[in-house]
Amino acid sequence: HFATELSELALPWRSEPTPDPRLLVLNDRLAAELGIDPDELRGPDGVGLLTGTVVPPGATPVAQAYAGHQFGGYSPRLGDGRALLMGELTDQEGRPRDLHLKGSGRTPFSRGGDGLAAVGPMLREYLMSEAMHALGVPTTRALAVVATGRDVRRDTMLPGAVLARVASSHLRVGTFQLVASTGDVELLRRVADHAIERHHPSAASAENPYRALFEAVVAAQADLVARWMLLGFVHGVMNTDNMTISGETIDYGPCAFLDAYDPEAVFSSIDVDGRYAYGNQPVVAQWNLARFAETLLPLIAEDQGTAVTLAVESLNTFPTRYAATYATGLRAKLGLPATVTDTDATKLGEELLALLRASHVDWTTAFRALGSAARGDDEPIRGLVIDLASLDDWLARWRTLGPDPAAMDRTNPVYVPRNHLVEEALDAATAGDLDPFERLLAVVQQPFDERPGLERYAAPAPEDFGRYVTYC
Ligand code: AMP
Ligand code: MG
Ligand code: MG
Repeated sequence: HFATELSELALPWRSEPTPDPRLLVLNDRLAAELGIDPDELRGPDGVGLLTGTVVPPGATPVAQAYAGHQFGGYSPRLGDGRALLMGELTDQEGRPRDLHLKGSGRTPFSRGGDGLAAVGPMLREYLMSEAMHALGVPTTRALAVVATGRDVRRDTMLPGAVLARVASSHLRVGTFQLVASTGDVELLRRVADHAIERHHPSAASAENPYRALFEAVVAAQADLVARWMLLGFVHGVMNTDNMTISGETIDYGPCAFLDAYDPEAVFSSIDVDGRYAYGNQPVVAQWNLARFAETLLPLIAEDQGTAVTLAVESLNTFPTRYAATYATGLRAKLGLPATVTDTDATKLGEELLALLRASHVDWTTAFRALGSAARGDDEPIRGLVIDLASLDDWLARWRTLGPDPAAMDRTNPVYVPRNHLVEEALDAATAGDLDPFERLLAVVQQPFDERPGLERYAAPAPEDFGRYVTYC
């Protein structure tokens, strides 16, 4: 649909040949969801499809054009510089899903880049996106990673790979920014209609469909970012070209889960000013949505003043929507019943967060330790916090509200892809040993069920792990 309906944004292109393709990981369940026999994907034609070297009859792989604000500065021409949209599949529930490749070679959008990707970062995206899916967060999915047999030059030479990923679409804020910059309002209308039909169909029957589209995206992104925050997820590169219209998390580059709770936590090597720090994510999301609103103004109202007024009103629904999802989530993390108001849950939660911050407590560990406290064992959480007088006071007030430990265990994961475990798994995979990756993947795919023998996967980073820095 993208290639035919929005051909102005789709450049037919082919992937680079792969000298010695080897399937490293395949998502059998996702393949089945897409109506594909996983065993066929394991064969030569399947691996060809997963790397773009075999194109099914009737398919036209394209590189997608988009623009975007990167770290606040506008880039008028980005686009798929190392990716290709292979085509669209209809899943078992009848929904259209994009099949997209990353690391498939240079395109006209590559600028100075080599169009390639290394095994480590592609396995990282596979692991992180599947963990997020298991945690219940809307996200692109990973179908496979294939090693190409070609080395990629980074700081050192690294084995190359192609990731095959699946998304409900690859429309981004940056897609609209590119179209708006051309001044072609009819094309803009087609892109917006395409987005409405594909992602937010109820907007079609609204009094002002394009304003309704905007509000639907505001709502989806407010919910999404609130979920990230509740899980301690730091996206790392929230440029407008990495913000979807669907509300799915996309582009797992320098992302990481919090270890010690700190609103200023930044992991990405290139985010020197902390623009995309953990605690900034809601504000940045709203900033990105303002850029999206700007693109839609000509469709929202003929008179620009009116369009701006309406768009600002809609944009201002973000903080309320975000706060509501966050409060609901925080209440669940604290195991509290719905009778505790959003205001009370948020206030109590923030008091706890202040204690966690002061003692540099591991985010994921803290909430499971609180689950033990709900069962009557305060020692795990008391072992983490330094200011015990304040903690005991907090625990006493929290307990009177009747926290439910079983509910807490369903919302507070015991296993997330911890930074030191991710590094260990990717280092081993880069050196040819996939076992640690496969074990870690299996663990994070069931994040809430505590299993014996997996203590190592639930433990915070060892002291000597040091400050974690990610590269994209
Ligand atoms: P990202 O920061 O991953 O969202 O990428 C931003 C832009 O850089 C996109 O247009 C990518 O396609 C492009 N890009 C990233 N890495 C490469 C690469 N190795 N070769 C060519 N283009 C790239
Ligand atoms: Mg990107
Ligand atoms: Mg990226």
